Amino acid sequence: MIYMEKQQNNFLKSIQYIPVISKYTFYHTFKTWYQFLKKSREWNEKQIQNYQNHQLKSLINHAFHHVPYYHKLFQSKNLKPKDITQLSDMDKIPVLTKDIIMENISLLKAKNYPENSFHIRNTGGTTGTPLSFYIEKAKWLGIHFAFNKIYMQKAGYHWYDKVISISGIKNPMKHHSLYRTLELSSFHTTSKDFEKYNRQIHRFKPRFITAFPSALLLFTKDMVTQKKNIYTGFQAIFCHGEILHPMQKKYFEDIYNCKVFDQYGHREQCVFATTCKQSNLYHIFPEYGIVEILNKQNQPMKSDNKTGEIVATSLLNYVFPFIRYKTNDLAEISNETCDCGSSYHLLKRIIGRTQEFLIGKNHEKIPLTGLYHILTKQSFHIRECQILQEKEGELIISYVKSEHYSKKDKEKIQQAFYDTIGKQFTLIFQPVDSIKRTKDGKYQYLIQKLPIKFF
Ligand SMILES: [Zn+2]
Repeated sequence: MIYMEKQQNNFLKSIQYIPVISKYTFYHTFKTWYQFLKKSREWNEKQIQNYQNHQLKSLINHAFHHVPYYHKLFQSKNLKPKDITQLSDMDKIPVLTKDIIMENISLLKAKNYPENSFHIRNTGGTTGTPLSFYIEKAKWLGIHFAFNKIYMQKAGYHWYDKVISISGIKNPMKHHSLYRTLELSSFHTTSKDFEKYNRQIHRFKPRFITAFPSALLLFTKDMVTQKKNIYTGFQAIFCHGEILHPMQKKYFEDIYNCKVFDQYGHREQCVFATTCKQSNLYHIFPEYGIVEILNKQNQPMKSDNKTGEIVATSLLNYVFPFIRYKTNDLAEISNETCDCGSSYHLLKRIIGRTQEFLIGKNHEKIPLTGLYHILTKQSFHIRECQILQEKEGELIISYVKSEHYSKKDKEKIQQAFYDTIGKQFTLIFQPVDSIKRTKDGKYQYLIQKLPIKFF
């Protein structure tokens, strides 16, 4: 009890940027969800299914009566809320694409919520379709914090533990003494910045780190290259915000000698899936949303190891319901059970955005996942790089040289590319001073300008 109160007080103090009126909503939502999740994480499969069926019914009923887009859609399909009462009825509902959202943004807003409860969010960097949508003001943050705490606690995190965070903040460094976090910026990535970060990390002595994998990789590689003393007191590393490539994960585990966890989610807040202490499988939190893996014909796929698109229904967002939302992300299904004993559904692998593919000279789609390591592994003298594709069979590789770079490094990369996928691509190398981050501070390995249609 004391533990809970202390943790909640800490959170309350840490959310000073939220307007006073919203703070109560945030605090109340966090507390309610945190307490609920502590119980629900022990549920068995039947309890999870009952909960999701119940929540689905409630969401469909709400969408039909209060959301003009769904009312019209259901009528056009001659569907009534009573026709969708369980998960197996979901395929009666047409999928929701980003294009549909953009064309129907005002019709997707629930009419029974006051205007001041809508909080607009946008997605889309230099690739992908930019998207605007709404979530419920103040509440979404409380819910997000609750899920995040439950996830981190499974890895041994306690409210009094110190945490380093590397993400898209504007200032290079920000210390939140009240909630024991030192934030470092993924926008400030010169060797000088990294040396400063390294000194601060040693002084701060954190037990956990949460980071965009690309930012942590860049920092770690820089410290290794400069033969700096790397801090190894982490109990766990939590990656988020970008796809964690297997090579990155192994590198972090080797250098930091601790468990690396990964989290999959997105700004639309329909999915929250995390790996656990016992495995690298992604556990889908059933209280957050319903996840389906669909094939090209939007039919559910169930078999083990099959890859399809993640289509998700948010069980949390009533102001702007996402029902069967096509995320454009691909994942591999797993029918295994995890040793941790969780009854959550599992994903074997998050393969990435559908645009994370290259198009070869023979119009072949080649996933970036298998190729990305070529660029980073072949040369320690390339600090960072980014691929741009504007034409089939041609890749423009922008790269930032490090001190000992020579044209041999370029040749090595070229050869490794040819060895891996043949002469599918003409490579054009372009030295640059730095690689620009997205406005969220994330790093994009690939800027794909060609349309990639899988689904
Ligand atoms: Zn597990």
